[in-house]
Amino acid sequence: MTLATFTSATTRFLGLGSILSLAVSGCSNQLADNSEMAPAAVIAALEAAARGEPHPDDLHPDTARSGKAMTPTQAAFDVQHYTLSLKVMPETRSIDGRVDVRFDALEALDTVQLDLDPRLSIKEVTLGDTALSVRREAGSFFVTLPSTLAAGASATISVAYGGKPHVALAPPWFGGFVWSEVDGTPWFATAVQGDGCDLWWPCKDNFADKPDEGIDLAISAPRGVKIASVGVLRSVDEGDDGFDTWHWSSRHPYSGYAVAINGGPYELVEDEYTGVSGSRYPIQFWALKENADKARDLVNSDVIPDLEFFERLLGPYPWGDEKAGFVETPHLGMEHQTINGYGEQYKRGRYGYDWLLHHELAHEWFGNVMTHARPEDAWLHEGYGAYMQAVYAEETVGAMGYFDHMYGAYTNNEHCLPVANPEVMDAGEAFDNRDIYTKGSWMLHSLRRYIGEDAFWAGTRRLIYDTAEPWSLSYPIQFRYRSTEDFIAIMSDEAGEDVSWIVETYLREAGMPELITSRDEGKLSLAWEVPGDRDFPMPVEVSIDGERVITDMSSGPQSLAVPEGARVLIDPDSKILRTLPIIGDCSEQTEQQIQDNIERFTRMAKDYGWQRD
Ligand SMILES: [Zn+2]
Repeated sequence: MTLATFTSATTRFLGLGSILSLAVSGCSNQLADNSEMAPAAVIAALEAAARGEPHPDDLHPDTARSGKAMTPTQAAFDVQHYTLSLKVMPETRSIDGRVDVRFDALEALDTVQLDLDPRLSIKEVTLGDTALSVRREAGSFFVTLPSTLAAGASATISVAYGGKPHVALAPPWFGGFVWSEVDGTPWFATAVQGDGCDLWWPCKDNFADKPDEGIDLAISAPRGVKIASVGVLRSVDEGDDGFDTWHWSSRHPYSGYAVAINGGPYELVEDEYTGVSGSRYPIQFWALKENADKARDLVNSDVIPDLEFFERLLGPYPWGDEKAGFVETPHLGMEHQTINGYGEQYKRGRYGYDWLLHHELAHEWFGNVMTHARPEDAWLHEGYGAYMQAVYAEETVGAMGYFDHMYGAYTNNEHCLPVANPEVMDAGEAFDNRDIYTKGSWMLHSLRRYIGEDAFWAGTRRLIYDTAEPWSLSYPIQFRYRSTEDFIAIMSDEAGEDVSWIVETYLREAGMPELITSRDEGKLSLAWEVPGDRDFPMPVEVSIDGERVITDMSSGPQSLAVPEGARVLIDPDSKILRTLPIIGDCSEQTEQQIQDNIERFTRMAKDYGWQRD
């Protein structure tokens, strides 16, 4: 392993620290026997992950890179549909199956380039009855078509493959297949956001090409293991080999990482919800049998109120023609579309609601129906995704809940790299930067305060639905790609003025503006010092003995008359993201932090019962 890889892995862990530190407060150890240590192989893997050190199961570097720029060969076709037929064999931690990829040629096409972890073998690739030649290179494979496919024509190739998929080192952050069991029954999941779909199935591992017409899955697992996946459950076939096949199907496009399979001794907890547009849709919560009552309570205490919150603020739940779905996972959680991974173990957070469930559900709007095409725009998922918990706390427990969230986000900012960084080349790098969550949230806060409630929320709805009035949209709801530039254009339009200076100062620079203040001889002087010398005419509210004045900073430094001895508060409502003497830094992890993280992962390994060879 090179130094570069080492550094990257170390940073990645830091990047996830803010979410992790929220996640692990007060672990409850409900699932596994607390006295039992996690297996030595599991401990060794999570220690390697926490330290950013090499591990024998590390991914091929090319496989680990998800969402990198498409090659010309990849850009020459557009995936329309995937069909996954996969047998999962927990006993040997292996998989065996076939993926049919239907695609349109965007130009004359001789070769199809797809991605698959080299540790999985490709048995054959066929087009109809014709076997095709396959060349594997790094994390990709190249299939030669029998004849040139004309631009506009479509074809379906079928890839038979199998083997032992990568076992996650410390999911969901260091992802892959997650293996566990409950009272002897297998319990497993996939979680591959940072590394991509190619860890367990042949796919085009790129956010910018979702399968336009959706995905069908036929997942076989040992009888007694129920499979929860994306879209709608069509049927379950009993096999005569002791395996049942679960047929799930969705007509919606998916990012590769948003497709997941989960298996375990589940009980389905169901409900129905009438959305803001008047449509009724099913809520499904696939809980471990022993936790079905807790899941029922969680649906009532959180799922329904969360849906009500998001629908009222944003608009209709995007996938109401299929389901709002959750599944109990042997890892903390992930925003898998229509089947959100849930591993918070039914704990009540410090704000009286389940932040993990709220966060993953937020991603149905910020991530799944509105999606970044470029890794540099990952803040659109995570900045908004994290900000929604603050907004929810504002509604449920008031300003103290909101600012408690925001203070945590503020002090977790690292300021190592810009939030929207064009130099970021893949999802792993994007998620290395913790500030996509924290500073992303704070930019949204400051913009909201600057342009006002109506403009901010109308702009947010336009970002998602392309209309500020989505209330009566009928299903299916169209997904769309969005970029930082789209965000600026929409928010500027809603604000009635160009707000690019706010967004770009906060997102395109690693540092933050600092308000330089001094008080002398009855005067308060204010001046912005801005990274990159950007234009930043942010007005500053000042309270002088309780009287508020808003200082226009558009013509540069200002001074205000303040009586001697007056009580002066600058930005008394904390509207503006700026440098204060409480910010974090991007220094290397200390040994103590590494130890703390190992302890957290070890606790998770026990709670979730992680297994590996
Ligand atoms: Zn998230």
